[in-house]
Amino acid sequence: MRTLIREIIAKEGESVVLEGWVRNRRDHGKLIFIDLKDRSGLVQVVFLPKPEEVHASATELRSEWVVRLTGKVNKRPDNMVNADQEFGAYEILAEGLEVLNKAEELPIPIDTDGREISEEARMKYRAFDLRRERMENNMKMRAKVIHAFRKYLVDRDFIEVETPILGKATPEGSRDYLVPSRIYPGKCYALPQSPQQYKQLLMVAGLERYFQIARCFRDEDTRGDRQPEFTQLDMEMSFVKREDVMDVVEGMLIELVETLYPNKRIQQKPFPRITYKESMEKYGNDRPDIREDKNDPGLLAFCWVIDFPFFEKDEETGGWTFTHNPFSAPQPEFMESLMNKENIGDILTTQYDIVLNGYEIGGGSIRNHRPEALRKVLEIMGFSDEKIQSDYGHMLEAFKLGAPPHGGIAPGVDRIVMLLQGEPNIREVIAFPKTGDGRDLMMDAPSEFTEKQLTELQIKVNKTK
Ligand code: ASP
Repeated sequence: MRTLIREIIAKEGESVVLEGWVRNRRDHGKLIFIDLKDRSGLVQVVFLPKPEEVHASATELRSEWVVRLTGKVNKRPDNMVNADQEFGAYEILAEGLEVLNKAEELPIPIDTDGREISEEARMKYRAFDLRRERMENNMKMRAKVIHAFRKYLVDRDFIEVETPILGKATPEGSRDYLVPSRIYPGKCYALPQSPQQYKQLLMVAGLERYFQIARCFRDEDTRGDRQPEFTQLDMEMSFVKREDVMDVVEGMLIELVETLYPNKRIQQKPFPRITYKESMEKYGNDRPDIREDKNDPGLLAFCWVIDFPFFEKDEETGGWTFTHNPFSAPQPEFMESLMNKENIGDILTTQYDIVLNGYEIGGGSIRNHRPEALRKVLEIMGFSDEKIQSDYGHMLEAFKLGAPPHGGIAPGVDRIVMLLQGEPNIREVIAFPKTGDGRDLMMDAPSEFTEKQLTELQIKVNKTK
């Protein structure tokens, strides 16, 4: 039966079977050493001159070969302990060796942190690149962060619900990814820019507290902290005010840092609140970096930005457009202005953004749960009755059926993990990200369609470049 490397500490003097990868091999002639790696850790294996056939096959081993070996767990003398390795007080004296798979010449090194290797090469061999210790740790910590979010929310009565990936295009701010329908030629599904409408409909459904680790898709130009697809911790709650949503998120982030990142320091608790106006005046942007000491990698300066204007002038059309989210409610004292469509530029929204070290890591708002109020927002943006009906009719109808007051937020998982792990961009904390120019070099996507697929979809490609 297989023993994991972390289990050897309880098996001193016993023979065990280990399976894993040869991380490196040092051949000293009579003695051959390898570091063996499995999911639980790394341990040194020693091949003595005897048994001879085992020693002979160990001379052939190379880095990243996959092996099964039998060996005796030996505690190393105190002066031989490798303090840099978790299991450096032990070694395995090899008794048997079976090669399960060989590795060809390695395309990129994986015993470094990988920052010196071109992104092209790392992405092309991503499955291999993920074997490096830094990436393995990023993947493990990402999973722990998501698990901690889930636990925090489930413990507080939140229900996890999956919403569709194939949905309807609705103008929400970014360009949609479209999926042509085979059954309805000429029609498309859209991939969700966020589950915004579905989560609000779940509040109409009476779930009261929803969350989802939700994949979102936005066809925007890729940047360091943006990807065509990214992950949000999407949340929505009924019968809440702005402070209630902010409290849940703040409590969750504090608990996350204190349990998973105890060496980091949160600069200020409760998180300070800065108005949009103050932020623009003092910091020149709406995601202020309020760190007292920007050289301290362990410092986490969270803050909330509130009191954003609801509408701004669209430079192209000259009309009004929303600054954050068309489904937001105005702050209560501005409801009258909204309903009367007056002093539009002065209306403040209930939007709250959470910012960490100068990065916006999430945003949300209290919503308009009364159909008249949502309709006014859409009218202010100059939408015709037909457009309101075709794009938002389902929301207006649902709100006529006893929609509770509700609000939510969507912290960005990739950015949070990036900042907590001290990584420079979100690609380092996503298993299979797109390159900076939107390609998957390992799978070679996007790729051409076949003629058959195009015929089935009744699509004709008209390439202009
Ligand atoms: N759906 C919003 C977004 O993706 C977040 C929210 O308001 O809950 O930015």
